[in-house]
Amino acid sequence: RIAYVNGQYVPHQHACVHIEDRGYQFADGVYEVVPIVGGKLIDEKGHLDRLWRSMNELKMDAPMKRRPMQLVMAEVIRRNGIENGLIYMQVTRGVAPRDHPFPKNAQPALVMTAKRLSMEKAAQKAEKGVTVITVPDIRWQRCDIKSVSLLPNILAKQEAVEKGAYEAFQFDGEGNITEGSSTNAWIIDQDGTLITRPTSNSILAGITRAALIELLKEKGIKLELRSFTVDELRNAREVFLTSSSSYVQPVVQVDDKVIGNGKPGSVSLELRTIFKDYMDR
Ligand code: PMP
Repeated sequence: RIAYVNGQYVPHQHACVHIEDRGYQFADGVYEVVPIVGGKLIDEKGHLDRLWRSMNELKMDAPMKRRPMQLVMAEVIRRNGIENGLIYMQVTRGVAPRDHPFPKNAQPALVMTAKRLSMEKAAQKAEKGVTVITVPDIRWQRCDIKSVSLLPNILAKQEAVEKGAYEAFQFDGEGNITEGSSTNAWIIDQDGTLITRPTSNSILAGITRAALIELLKEKGIKLELRSFTVDELRNAREVFLTSSSSYVQPVVQVDDKVIGNGKPGSVSLELRTIFKDYMDR
């Protein structure tokens, strides 16, 4: 495997950054994960728009312009020979002696890696469905920024893993679900209404979420953009989650509550198919 590190393509096992990189010391960085399907990046524009937005919100300079970054992305995919998988890209504020204020002359650091994902395994997981747990959302007030500062997300995901679940859906002080530790959350209520939380500073504006919303519009499928409670989640007819690495993934259990008959819901599966077709076109 080959990684890109600050201007160089290096063997993955020898790729490293400086100990005074602010990403390492302060989690002072942002990232993106972009799916690759059939050798092509999915929603490259949306991911780059979001990366630039994240950098802007943190007053971070871009390590390079967009066009050259796209060339590096293409080169990382080519050198790794990836057909299906994902590309990980991370920008930090750069290397400087450890001190909280922004450094004056640091050059933003850019790292990219790519990995292969098995489409068969993903399909198997979708056929079976996954389970989720619910946990309090203990994150900060700018979850709209895709920052590498992911400790609360990691703690939530670890709790899920320890309970044999795939994901942890987080709930806010009002008992409303915000999102998963690395996914957006959706429900279909007992009347068949599709519901997901509107974007705000409380959740990441998922690219998969946005693409699915566009597809729903195209197909004339109604969507309610509103918050829903843990109770509504547990009593939903169907539950699913979206992300760049799991696409549309049906959820068949929430905590101890089995959703529907314990199998992926028909609408969730249909939406997964619609999304797969979109990625293939
Ligand atoms: N929420 C969080 C907290 C995430 O980390 C992710 C994954 N990046 C998502 C939602 C899903 O976003 P996307 O569809 O852009 O991968």
